[in-house]
Amino acid sequence: MQISTGDILRQAVADQTTLGRQAGDFIKSGALVPDDLIIDLIAERLRQPDCAKGFLLDGFPRTIPQAESLDALLNKLALSLNCVLSVQVPRAVIIERLAGRRTCKQCGALSHVVFEPSKQPGVCDCCGGELFQRDDDREATIANRLTVYEKQTAPLVDYYRRQGALREIDGVGSIDEIRSRVMTALGGLVP
Ligand code: AMP
Repeated sequence: MQISTGDILRQAVADQTTLGRQAGDFIKSGALVPDDLIIDLIAERLRQPDCAKGFLLDGFPRTIPQAESLDALLNKLALSLNCVLSVQVPRAVIIERLAGRRTCKQCGALSHVVFEPSKQPGVCDCCGGELFQRDDDREATIANRLTVYEKQTAPLVDYYRRQGALREIDGVGSIDEIRSRVMTALGGLVP
């Protein structure tokens, strides 16, 4: 089961739930949503039956307090992390990838204006839905997200290195090359 805090938050914003109203402005500006909101969200999500056979967390934790809360939560659930993956990509490549990323409004499929263009500009190859650019994938917001990453998220690399859970991979290359590095790093954890 893949759990993406970004996807959950974007859905909450679209549905105008209480969480969505609390998180919307943070997401738009590229800032992190406050830890207490995210920690409650994950605590609730990991207790769902579809997580019983294992899960992959995408975009969480992003701060040391989130990582510490995750440790406490996993402890309570008698679970532990098998692996933490750090994908290394130079700043210029990240900007190029995010600025060209397009998402389908209907099915959520991703494409890229340069690396994986849709057959018809603005139209999803999978379902014919409309492609859009995430607000936070605009260049000024990307720069802010990278600054936030350096300040608040980068310290997690050492945190998990000390726990012996960290595996690092080179994130430069084709989608197939990187997928294969990820699968090797996960070493059979994903069926
Ligand atoms: P993502 O899709 O993972 O890039 O997340 C998009 C945005 O959602 C981030 O820039 C944050 O504003 C918010 N977000 C996602 N995950 C977290 C998290 N673990 N902690 C705080 N904010 C988050």
